Amino acid sequence: MTEQENNSLWNLSRHSKVEINILNEELKTDVAIIGGGFTGTSAALRFAESGVDVTLLEAEFNGFGGSGRNVGLTNAGLWKNPDEVEKIVGKPYGERLNALLADAPSLVHQLIKDHDIKCESLRNGSLHLAHSEKGMDSLKYKLEQVNARGAELELLDQQETFKLTAAEKYIGSILDKRAGTIQPLEYCHGLMQAAKMAGAKIYTGTAALDIFNVSGTWYIKTEKGLLKADKVLVATNAYLSNILPELKSTFTPMYYCQMATDPLTDEQLDNYLPGKNGTWDTRLVMRSYRTDAAGRLIIGTIGNIFIDKAPLFSSWADKMVRDTFPIVGPVEWTYKWAGRIACSSNYVPNFHELGNGLYSINGFSGRGISPGTALGREMADFMMDKIKAEELPLPLKSPEKVPFNLLREAFYETGSQLTRIQDHII
Ligand SMILES: Cc1cc2nc3c(=O)[nH]c(=O)nc-3n(C[C@H](O)[C@H](O)[C@H](O)COP(=O)(O)OP(=O)(O)OC[C@H]3O[C@@H](n4cnc5c(N)ncnc54)[C@H](O)[C@@H]3O)c2cc1C
Repeated sequence: MTEQENNSLWNLSRHSKVEINILNEELKTDVAIIGGGFTGTSAALRFAESGVDVTLLEAEFNGFGGSGRNVGLTNAGLWKNPDEVEKIVGKPYGERLNALLADAPSLVHQLIKDHDIKCESLRNGSLHLAHSEKGMDSLKYKLEQVNARGAELELLDQQETFKLTAAEKYIGSILDKRAGTIQPLEYCHGLMQAAKMAGAKIYTGTAALDIFNVSGTWYIKTEKGLLKADKVLVATNAYLSNILPELKSTFTPMYYCQMATDPLTDEQLDNYLPGKNGTWDTRLVMRSYRTDAAGRLIIGTIGNIFIDKAPLFSSWADKMVRDTFPIVGPVEWTYKWAGRIACSSNYVPNFHELGNGLYSINGFSGRGISPGTALGREMADFMMDKIKAEELPLPLKSPEKVPFNLLREAFYETGSQLTRIQDHII
């Protein structure tokens, strides 16, 4: 199994078609976008709807990267709590970012409605599960800050949590009714179709190989073509390839893997997330659980499935189901896949200015469905001069290296493997 294959459940179960349309000519456009995940396609839609001539280049197919491999939780906010976000980026930016991302799940689900995107959209709230007293304290701390900004998160006790999840050993949770679940690859394809219908030109199977500026125009070389643009947005997040090496060191790659079964029986589904909420927990090496529309059991945790130790995941997952959802019984893991996450130095996304008219968004740190959709639009508005730099939700900055990046990467992977070994023993 290789990462290039993208054998995710989402890719193998999608109904939308993957269209490969290679750029094989010289073309001039107002705005070029590199990367066809949520961020790039959301920006493309925004530009196209505003009547701007926009062209998107995607190296593989839309949703090939994180957007087609993720858990599919349309969560609000970031991993960091809102107070900390304001500390990290400063108050005016932080306040705007917190407000934007609190509403971002509504934006996603509204876009799905407006463009009739068939992506198993279900908006019945997410559950953040406490696995320990310390975890419960962290949930209370988060709830206080988020609700102080007008949200209505609910703190559920052990019994209420069990009623929605049938999960053993969780002592409470936060129910966030703003969030939901989607089939993420179908959502990405739907955004791309919407952008196309609005007039965006989309080229897939077309990697940007080089990018340079001559007399104020950006030139993007591809294998068979050349794209000239006045402005460029680079939306490649953790899947950045070939170009702009200065972006590579602005994030630490971390893998998150998932496994899914074939559809469960109705009886099994009574004992696995009966509330059908998307969930994740407070463990340092977190776990996520969800179902899809067909009723598959889908679990995930931090770690790379594309390496030698991969078999350990199946036995870890078997034990996890035995311990957490004991009535479900033994299951077969039909789907196994993983995706790369781009962790920024402070787990808040980056807006970069890389040259005159050349911008990038990256560093979603594992929270990019709603944020990618919303921040792609914000960046598009800025690049169309609809808003000023000082009105953006994040400051524009030059690329900065994440300190001790290789060490940090090794720490994530080793930590996740050690945890799985420990989970086996205990
Ligand atoms: C396993 C996993 C689980 C996650 N779970 C969640 C979740 O439940 N909720 C949530 O909110 N977020 C989640 N995330 C994070 C979220 O998926 C990402 O933040 C989001 O998909 C990033 O979108 P993007 O458009 O910025 O980048 P991507 O979707 O990664 O797209 C980047 C694209 O750029 C293309 N590209 C790269 N280089 C070039 C080039 N030179 N030329 C042309 N194209 C290029 C790539 O092929 C890729 O398709 C998860 C991520 C992973 C990996």
